[in-house]
Amino acid sequence: MKNILFIDRDGTIVKEAKAPDYVLDTFEELEFYPEVFRYLGKIARNLNYELVMVTNQDGLGTKTLPTETFWNIHNKIMKAFENEGIVFTKVFIDDSYPEDKKPTRKPGIAMVTEYIDNPKYDLANSFMIGDRLTDIEFAKNLGAKGIFINNDEALGATEINSKREELDQTIALQTTSWKEIYRFLKKQN
Ligand SMILES: [Mg+2]
Repeated sequence: MKNILFIDRDGTIVKEAKAPDYVLDTFEELEFYPEVFRYLGKIARNLNYELVMVTNQDGLGTKTLPTETFWNIHNKIMKAFENEGIVFTKVFIDDSYPEDKKPTRKPGIAMVTEYIDNPKYDLANSFMIGDRLTDIEFAKNLGAKGIFINNDEALGATEINSKREELDQTIALQTTSWKEIYRFLKKQN
C-alpha cells in the first residue's frame, strides 16, 4: 500500500499572499516557503510517499483571480518543483467560496474520493500538510494525520482557539520548518 502526502499550496509550499486581497495573483508576490525545495526534495527522492496537492482557490475564474493569471503563476510554481524532482501525481483545486459550503472545498474530501476505501492506499499512515486548521480537519475527515504549519501568516488565528482542541489528536506534528517535517517523516518511514 502507498502512503500519501496531501499538500496544501498557499502558506505551505509558497508564502501566503499579503493584504489587501490575500490572493496570489502577481509574480511579485510569489515567494517559496523557506527550504521547501531542499526538504520536500529529500522527501520526494528518499521517502516512500506519493505527493498530492489539494488547494482551495476561492474565486478562481472570477475578477479576483482570473483563470489565466492563476494558471500562469501556478504552472510556474509546479515547474520550479518539477525541476527539483518534486512531482505531484495529482493536483486538486477547489474554486468555491467558504459560504458555498461545497463538499469539495477543504475540509471537505469530495475531491479526493479516489483515495478512500482504496486498497492501494494506506490513509491511516498518510498525512495532510497545511497551514490552516481546515487542512487538519481535512486530514481527520480522511482518517489521516495532519502536519500543521503553524506560521502566523495564516488568517485563522481566532479559529485556532475554538477548533484547536478537537483537532489536537489529528495533529501529528506542529512546526514552521520543512526541515522538521522531513525529519519527522523520515522517522515514520
Ligand atoms: Mg494554506
